[in-house]
Amino acid sequence: MPETLTPKVLIIGAGTGGYPTAIRCGQLGLDTVIVDAGKLGGTCLNVGCIPSKAFIHAAGKFEAVKKAANGGTLGITAGSASIDLAQTVAWKDGIVAKLNGGVGGLLKRAKARHIQGWATFTDAKTCTVQPSDGGEPITITPEHVILATGSQPVELPFLPFGGNVISSEGALQLDRVPERLVVVGGGYIGVELGTAFAKFGSKVTIVEAQERILPLYDKALTDPVRKWLERNGVTLHLGAKARGMDGDALTVETADGQTLKLAADKVMVTVGRRPVTGGFGLEAMGVDMAGPFIKVDDQRRTSMKNVWAVGDVVGEPMLAHKSSAEGEMVAEIIAGRRRTFDPVTIAAVCFTEPEIVAAGLLPADVEGRTDVAVAQFPFSAIGRALSMEAGDDGGFVRILHGKDDHRILGIQAVGSHVSELSGEFAAFMEMGAVLEDVAGTIHVHPTLTEAFHEAALRGLGHAIHI
Ligand code: FAD
Ligand code: NAD
Repeated sequence: MPETLTPKVLIIGAGTGGYPTAIRCGQLGLDTVIVDAGKLGGTCLNVGCIPSKAFIHAAGKFEAVKKAANGGTLGITAGSASIDLAQTVAWKDGIVAKLNGGVGGLLKRAKARHIQGWATFTDAKTCTVQPSDGGEPITITPEHVILATGSQPVELPFLPFGGNVISSEGALQLDRVPERLVVVGGGYIGVELGTAFAKFGSKVTIVEAQERILPLYDKALTDPVRKWLERNGVTLHLGAKARGMDGDALTVETADGQTLKLAADKVMVTVGRRPVTGGFGLEAMGVDMAGPFIKVDDQRRTSMKNVWAVGDVVGEPMLAHKSSAEGEMVAEIIAGRRRTFDPVTIAAVCFTEPEIVAAGLLPADVEGRTDVAVAQFPFSAIGRALSMEAGDDGGFVRILHGKDDHRILGIQAVGSHVSELSGEFAAFMEMGAVLEDVAGTIHVHPTLTEAFHEAALRGLGHAIHI
């Protein structure tokens, strides 16, 4: 007889939205089932954050050896450098497999039942899972449903994935470094992976529809990244639009109306991601939509009672840490705690060269406001930055703050290794800090965090090292 389950909580999707939610539900004693058609960890762990950062790390190592081979640097020389991308991919796959196993172990320890299979709903609380191993369908009628179905890459109708046209997922599985890589879309993924492939030795061209790469961020913040790309032989076509393939060349319309043919061994299309809302009976669940996303309130409740949604499927920012924070909150609400999703900031990092961190308001958000001032400090005046070759890439820390009350409204940084400052930026913002709080915190010497301290001092009119 087909199995029927009646758990307290059913979670669809075991990405960074779903699996921490299941663990938190388990910790809170809620009988929980989590279903995913793919591998545990979803996009982030399998084909997103982790494998892309592994690639970026490997590319950095290869670049360092290449530099040492090409005449040496820092007194270090080496023999000639070479790369076997298939081995790099195997190393990356090993990390992913270890983390997959880790998530499985954590779910087991939390006593959350994991079923691998595709979930389909016939109404808001009736779900049928077709197990991936071909077993009998399982019917699940839970008290609560949490949808964490995530997102997929946007496919351009005139550039469908297949053959030499690949998504980021395809790029992370290549067994050879493509000689010529054309990237369509100079956002997060395009610039992060485009940079990695440039370091691996590809001739990279980025085609971006807006007037600058990483258009979410302002020119001052993205200029050091643009300069690195240009210095390292990456061609940028800004304000340009991809139009389609012509043989092995990508047709591009440039900002001034010219048509270019860019010959390519691979064309990686990274023009954004769209929520996964089709193919599992969402229409039958009776939840309201907000454009392409599932509509939720500040507790991540949908319009249907006891149906919740978290992560990429509910909208921007499509970031792993946002999805986890939403999910863990929902688990606590179901367990009876009073919670709302109201973070002061969800900090974001671009793992580019150099890296970008942003927390809180951006300059565009305060444009025209005369009550806001800006304090900035360059990494070129920070000893630690110079000692780790991170001082000459045009990097800085910038604080947007109230002119009179000194309340910190936004913090951004660009520079090598600045991703590690994101926690400090988020913590000060979350605590509602003023410049004096940062200035009064003794920052360790020598570290990059001193640039943040100095920026706060500068805002108060007494920076030391400038
Ligand atoms: P997902 O991780 O997409 O998980 C959804 C899961 O639901 C999938 O496993 C899918 O199989 C499953 N599913 C969907 N429908 C069903 C169904 N009907 N039945 C069964 N299973 C189903 N974010 C960061 O914060 N930092 C980064 O550095 C970063 N780098 C990235 C790099 C790349 C290349 C990419 C593509 C993304 C990156 N992201 C990064 C974004 C991050 O991966 C997403 O924000 C995050 O994965 C969202 O988690 P989620 O749980 O909402 O969805
Ligand atoms: P994105 O939104 O960051 O960038 C897409 C870019 O493509 C935009 O700059 C857009 O102007 C451009 N574009 C759109 N259509 C185009 C066309 N026809 N021709 C040329 N350019 C075009 O999207 P993404 O890079 O695909 O990443 C998706 C999401 O994944 C991100 O928004 C982010 O939420 C997440 N992500 C985060 C990280 C991180 O946190 N470090 C890393 C990777 C991905």
